[in-house]
Amino acid sequence: MSEKNDFPINYDKCPLCGCKKHVARTIADGMVAAGKLAPDKVTGTKVETIGIGDQLKATLTQTIIIKVYDVCWDCGHEHIIYTDKKEVAATMPGQTHGRQLPPDFMAR
Ligand SMILES: [Zn+2]
Repeated sequence: MSEKNDFPINYDKCPLCGCKKHVARTIADGMVAAGKLAPDKVTGTKVETIGIGDQLKATLTQTIIIKVYDVCWDCGHEHIIYTDKKEVAATMPGQTHGRQLPPDFMAR
């Protein structure tokens, strides 16, 4: 258990089998080697965002948690490999759950 509250948080091991190799990351590494992707990009199979705070209160900005998933190379278990938090312009209450970020959101 980490003592620090720093973001982002990386989970490099599969929680089921401990494998450190992941499907999307492996493909992305190949793209980086071919010069098709910048090496610092976070890559996964799925991205979810969850708004943190009072969902019923209108605010100008909102804190969201970004969860990036990838698939374990050995056992196929899809799990979170990366979480970060971000301040974004607030949407109307109730619109945050399940909202998809554009693919280039990490570059902003
Ligand atoms: Zn695994």
